[in-house]
Amino acid sequence: MRNLLKETAQRAIAYLEGLESRRVAPDAEALAGLKKFDEPLPDGPVDPESVLRLLSDIGSPATPAMAGPRFFGFVVGGSLPVALAANWLAGAWDQCSTFHRVTPATAVVEQIALSWLLDLLGLPPTCGGAFVTGGTMANFTALAAARHALLTREGWDVEGDGLFGAPPLTVAVGAEAHPTLFKSLGLLGLGRRRVITVPVDSQGRMCPDALPPLSGQTIVCVQAGNVNTGAFDPIVEICERAHDAGAWVHVDGAFGLWASVAPSRAHLAAGLQNADSWATDAHKWLNVPYDSGLAFVRDPHALLKAMAITAEYLPTETTERNPSDYTPELSRRARGVDVWAVLRSLGRSGVADMIERTCRQARRFAEGLENAGYRILNEVVLNQVLVSFGDDTTTNRVIAGVQADGTCWCGGTVWQGQTAMRISVSSWATTDADVERSMEVMLRVAKTENSRL
Ligand SMILES: *Cc1c(COP(=O)(O)O)cnc(C)c1O
Repeated sequence: MRNLLKETAQRAIAYLEGLESRRVAPDAEALAGLKKFDEPLPDGPVDPESVLRLLSDIGSPATPAMAGPRFFGFVVGGSLPVALAANWLAGAWDQCSTFHRVTPATAVVEQIALSWLLDLLGLPPTCGGAFVTGGTMANFTALAAARHALLTREGWDVEGDGLFGAPPLTVAVGAEAHPTLFKSLGLLGLGRRRVITVPVDSQGRMCPDALPPLSGQTIVCVQAGNVNTGAFDPIVEICERAHDAGAWVHVDGAFGLWASVAPSRAHLAAGLQNADSWATDAHKWLNVPYDSGLAFVRDPHALLKAMAITAEYLPTETTERNPSDYTPELSRRARGVDVWAVLRSLGRSGVADMIERTCRQARRFAEGLENAGYRILNEVVLNQVLVSFGDDTTTNRVIAGVQADGTCWCGGTVWQGQTAMRISVSSWATTDADVERSMEVMLRVAKTENSRL
């Protein structure tokens, strides 16, 4: 065991150390190598060290360098070394982190991490919270609490009786809401399509004047951080209107919620604390390993009622916080351990610096590309940049060219009818030199593509 784990750790360290100098996108040879995994199920046991060697030799080169400093696709953070290390240790613990009484260490660490998060994000300290797999499940979890609370008011027990015959709930969602929010609503029986879509402006911000009539049976889903533009819905105004009518406000802040930590961005997040529930990711901007999402609910009782179970064989009775009373999962890894390690290591100012730095780097990308004559399609308020290199075909060619070059990686999108390259600066590892080096490649590829016209 010792040799296997030691050798694997060494390979992992070598992988991480190699991220600086390797291509971000795997090359054709590495991808072709994946065919070697395609073999019949072994008839019997083989030496574990050879298994790990195979995984490392074939798998590692075929991974895109998402953990490295120049991956700007989607909204992908890296893993801070302290988070990865905590993740390794917690993996060794292999705790089924369900009940406080059974796994006290992870239950306590998660409880502390939750209260630190509420403090850091400026949310009410009495909120209920859950460590889940990601933003999709965080939205699902928080919205399950919303569904519970609103239907309880109507005298309906949704956990017991389901949604057939229940008083209807109205859900209002911005037209540029993240696609997974619709999925979460679908999973809850609230419908992907049944929602009322509220028109948005050029940045994807909901127009509050276009909200439907609100009532105590309405859930309004606002967005803190659009995945393309980084824009925030006008939260203060929406909360005011919604709460006047008794509606529930849920915030999808998968990455944008972290803006409240950074002094220069906190204005974007102003009023967030007035909402009723929040979803965010830790595996994006907090830079912990996948998978790690967070749900917070102002009324902890609503979350508990939506998620808790009881059974004779389970030690559910306790005065302590049982992690699984707040999550869709029963058996679960203690994701909060990785989060705790980052917060314990960076502290308030360290997290703020990481958010500030990546936002500044996004601005630098926008400035450099704009100075070279390319059009930035969004107001760069956060860590997201949308750039057009000309017509749609040219922009797509530049994206392909940048990916093929391998220095960095950016994806594409279509923003309100226009093709753009997305630059999302979300990693702790990105240095200013990485930004300059990546920008040189973008400009060189863009120049080549434009000169072909
Ligand atoms: C990434 C993202 C999600 C989905 O989060 P996952 O962790 O991928 O499930 C939801 N909403 C927004 C705004 C996002 O950026």
